[in-house]
Amino acid sequence: MRNNRVVLGPGPPLEERVGGLVEEWIRDGRGSDHLVTGKAFFALYSWYGRRWAEHDIGWSEYVAASYDFIGGRNGWEAMLRERTECEGCRDTYRLENIGLCTGCMRYTCYACGAHEACAGEVV
Ligand SMILES: [Zn+2]
Ligand SMILES: [Zn+2]
Repeated sequence: MRNNRVVLGPGPPLEERVGGLVEEWIRDGRGSDHLVTGKAFFALYSWYGRRWAEHDIGWSEYVAASYDFIGGRNGWEAMLRERTECEGCRDTYRLENIGLCTGCMRYTCYACGAHEACAGEVV
């Protein structure tokens, strides 16, 4: 899906990339073809969980619609049980125990922490 590629970048800061998707989603009638899945959803949902208060209702509706689209609570919990590798130390973690750097969009464990070279944060 194109939207997943937009979220995963590269490009302007995550906030701007997602803002564009939210605008398109609303403008085009809120179809599911504008939502995000997989790693892009994980990034969006983790990041938005910290930033929701800074955004308007369109953002929260977009995140909620994507959440429903990946299968709601069951889909999210299944995603959290998936395993992936920290791209810093190569240790394997469940998604519920690993973060993602919003600068380079790589999975990053909390022991490795924020990347000095990246403007993003680990969410
Ligand atoms: Zn690591
Ligand atoms: Zn990074």
